[in-house]
Amino acid sequence: MNAHSVHAQITDRLRNVGLRPTRQRVDLASLMFVGEDHHMTAETLHRDASSAGVSVSLATVYNTLHQFTQVGLLREIVVDSGRSYFDTNTSEHHHFYFEDKGVLEDISSADVVLAELPDAPAGSKISRVDVIVRVTEA
Ligand SMILES: [Zn+2]
Repeated sequence: MNAHSVHAQITDRLRNVGLRPTRQRVDLASLMFVGEDHHMTAETLHRDASSAGVSVSLATVYNTLHQFTQVGLLREIVVDSGRSYFDTNTSEHHHFYFEDKGVLEDISSADVVLAELPDAPAGSKISRVDVIVRVTEA
């Protein structure tokens, strides 16, 4: 696939979710949506952008990640307060979190069986259950 078609594809994808395909959004999206699904933080994406010669501020990276999350292009995984990962895989699945390395690894949703959940509080419904299994080096 050539660079032009990737660019066109990304532009379409942004338009489809109602985001104006600005240069910065397209540049960042081109870095995010390549290869296999992966998890990133604002810092790792900012570093990737710098390496690729894309000049954006960390604040812009944050804003873009949150905008993409709001429209469903990404899924945010809050590991600790102040520590968020963004997942290009928005389908239902869970995560191992390697506390020592600060790395997430996918767990297939079929591998987690929840035997019992409380009823949702009155007037609400369960929209999703996220499981984070925290692991440390043994
Ligand atoms: Zn994931």
